[in-house]
Amino acid sequence: MKVHAIQTGSVKVKLAQLEAPRPGPLGVVGVLFDSSWSGWLPTYAWAIEHRDGVIVVDTGQASYLLEEVQKSLHPFLRSCAAFEIEPELEVGPQLRALGIGARDVRQVVLTHMHLDHDAGLSHFPHSTIRVAPGEIANARGVMGVLRGHLPGRWPGWFDPQSLDLVDGTYGPFAASRNLTSDGSVVAVATPGHTANHVSVIVEDGDTSVFLAGDTSYSEDLMLAGKIDGISPNAAVTAGTLARIRQFASERPVIYLPTHDPDAGRRLALRQIVPTYSRKEHHAS
Ligand SMILES: [Zn+2]
Repeated sequence: MKVHAIQTGSVKVKLAQLEAPRPGPLGVVGVLFDSSWSGWLPTYAWAIEHRDGVIVVDTGQASYLLEEVQKSLHPFLRSCAAFEIEPELEVGPQLRALGIGARDVRQVVLTHMHLDHDAGLSHFPHSTIRVAPGEIANARGVMGVLRGHLPGRWPGWFDPQSLDLVDGTYGPFAASRNLTSDGSVVAVATPGHTANHVSVIVEDGDTSVFLAGDTSYSEDLMLAGKIDGISPNAAVTAGTLARIRQFASERPVIYLPTHDPDAGRRLALRQIVPTYSRKEHHAS
């Protein structure tokens, strides 16, 4: 099954967002007061060519974010993120360049509703959009705006399907939802970065392609169990990172966070999380 990495521009964040010096509810305060910045990080969207129809996971950045950030009064948007995106790098034009039209996209799954993941929604007027119900609730209305969401920028037709994880456990993950007729694409609960964050696993032969959203900002941070500066509950995030490590130690997993500078290369080379191969060598 072909999975495409589509880089929709880049983002810069504070170093305390990548790895919180004081994880937990005060992590976000640490981000606000941090004066050190990351380099430019990619913002990926993903497209899975499945025989049921293309599934897009996250929609990436859109060029309107540039002006939104400039005029925003929200302290986080104003001072904690910088975006780089050209209109032709948005997910729609890049999919068309791959020969995938808007009507070919059957489903769009959002790992969570942060604006660098939902800004490209307008490219998918013909698709079923699936979002975890708690994510939608948190992003809507005045509270959503206070949390830094931009509900006013959602397309007028936006009426997401509630992505209820009703299909039970999946490996170490507590809840899941099968997304295809053959069970090869599955959304799993990965709470932490947000309370209702999901990841999408593509079972491709003996390898699992793990579209991780913002469970961590890189594979190294996941392996080290580092908590990001946004996660409101450090224990929940630590539990999810431990489950991902367990999953990746039991089978070959290509782990692909949205902002990992190495994610595109790892997908192209089908490079799995190294803890699995070490275990294999150990067993032989
Ligand atoms: Zn996020």
